[in-house]
Amino acid sequence: MTAQDPAGATPSHAIREQIRSDVELGRTEEVVTRFPPEPNGHLHIGHALSICLNFGMAAEFSGRCNLRFDDTNPLREDQAYIDAIQRDVAWLGFSWSGEARYASDYFEQLYAWAQHLIDTGHAYVDDLSAEDIRAWRGTLTEPGRDSPWRNRSADESLALFRRMRDGDFPDGARVLRARIDMASGNINLRDPVLYRILHAEHPRTGRRWCIYPTYDFAHGQSDAIEGVSHSLCTLEFADHRPLYDWLLEHLPVPSRPRQYEFAKLALSHTILSKRRLTRLVEDGHVQDWDDPRLATLSGLRRRGVPPAALREFVSRLAVSRNEGVVDIAMFEHVLRDTLNRSAERRMAVLRPLKVVIESFEEGRTDWLEAANHPADPDAGTRQVPFSREVWIERDDFMEDPPRRFHRLAPGREVRLRYGYLITCTEVVRDASGNVTELRCRHDPASRGGTAPDGRKVRGTIHWVSAAHAVDAEVRLYGPLVTTATPGATGDFVDDLDRASLEILRGCKLEPVLAGASGPVPVQFERLGYFSIDPDSAPGAPVYNQTVSLRDSWAKDRAKS
Ligand code: ATP
Ligand code: MG
Repeated sequence: MTAQDPAGATPSHAIREQIRSDVELGRTEEVVTRFPPEPNGHLHIGHALSICLNFGMAAEFSGRCNLRFDDTNPLREDQAYIDAIQRDVAWLGFSWSGEARYASDYFEQLYAWAQHLIDTGHAYVDDLSAEDIRAWRGTLTEPGRDSPWRNRSADESLALFRRMRDGDFPDGARVLRARIDMASGNINLRDPVLYRILHAEHPRTGRRWCIYPTYDFAHGQSDAIEGVSHSLCTLEFADHRPLYDWLLEHLPVPSRPRQYEFAKLALSHTILSKRRLTRLVEDGHVQDWDDPRLATLSGLRRRGVPPAALREFVSRLAVSRNEGVVDIAMFEHVLRDTLNRSAERRMAVLRPLKVVIESFEEGRTDWLEAANHPADPDAGTRQVPFSREVWIERDDFMEDPPRRFHRLAPGREVRLRYGYLITCTEVVRDASGNVTELRCRHDPASRGGTAPDGRKVRGTIHWVSAAHAVDAEVRLYGPLVTTATPGATGDFVDDLDRASLEILRGCKLEPVLAGASGPVPVQFERLGYFSIDPDSAPGAPVYNQTVSLRDSWAKDRAKS
């Protein structure tokens, strides 16, 4: 995976070219792909690449794409994951062909095919333990050794295989192996295990089975049953392809799928492996699978990332066999770009400082018109209340500002966006000298923000009327890990940034935000993009920062 120029056009790739030529030369009648998650965790942004590729190729060539759960290991799988994965794929914007499918739907057929392999001399029941099988398999430089059971008769293997299914043996007592080549240069061909005994409850088949096919035995055959034409998978399966083909050649399968590989997406400053994500959740380093700091699809959704931004990001990646790390800044760039176009603008003050406009009548409310999107007149306008007391951002005031500070300071004039020009006349302090309030006067003729005499006012700041403000909690997020490749030197958990979540309470929102619902992000002017969190209660909204306006942390990181 290598990143394209973020502004570049959608790159083509070898998989698309392969499919195109298969279609053009008549080798493929219908393009059928599948997305095959194992329901043992939640989907993450890496899976989004696989999803967009599989569904995208099917759509592009007027074919279909299945969703198939690779549920062959009952020890780690769960119905909750199955439900969450379906939710996530649908949220990303894809609909699979027909019902969701399951490798476990094919257990009976797979069992029959295993018997066929035994019958034809291509498989045998082995009594070696798992450790012995591993030890006897050899290494890259040494051939493997034949199991003493390798030449067992087909009849004996068939009878034992039957008894394995009937539950006559404990876990690990025997396995079914393909009889291929113990001296093969490809270790996957050294009599790979096809079935193992596992007395475990399966989320779908319950206790019906106590033997389960391996990934290798289930995957290609499931593809063949579904008529998959192009089985797209990540590079770690390239060495399994000879076995994938061998099994299809030795079985009376109804179709001949082919496997093609591409490199996994790796993102800097991001944890993607399911094993690591599971640890983060189980050890309480994050709140849950949908913690907005995680790159799980549910976390990204909760953070406010629109599915369109994910699809756009993925489409700008070069699908290839090159393993590289994509800079998270590229994702954020695409995210900002998408949100800049789609998000409506609102005003919110995150770290409030009270401003009393002494020249403005007490009790009066002025309703001002504000554009919902500066570049999109169709987005319309809204009315924003203005009154004698407003909140501004603490950062937008400095008592002793440097020359280039164009915001509020004693004696200086600033524009309240869509409102009035105000000048700071007095600074109020508490007993310990902290600024608690500013006193200002306004120019009544500057309603809307322009001075009647054309005088220049350089600074424009956002504000919220104190009498109308809605109090909110706002959660700011930094990257969860401090290093580009977490765990590169040691345990990845040591690279977690304990300050990656900052919770601000008593933030002030303009009143239209009181009724906001749904995860559609808005831009808080001058601050960033924010999206309402499901923790919100009526009258007590909670917002998540989706992404800041400027690329501040990427810059910081470049410096360090
Ligand atoms: P992980 O490596 O994160 O534990 P996995 O590969 O075990 O994930 P699966 O449920 O087996 O997860 O993945 C379903 C599909 O998604 C597979 O085809 C897999 O190759 C693909 N996939 C997984 N991770 C990535 C990634 N980072 N980039 C692209 N595709 C991925
Ligand atoms: Mg996997």
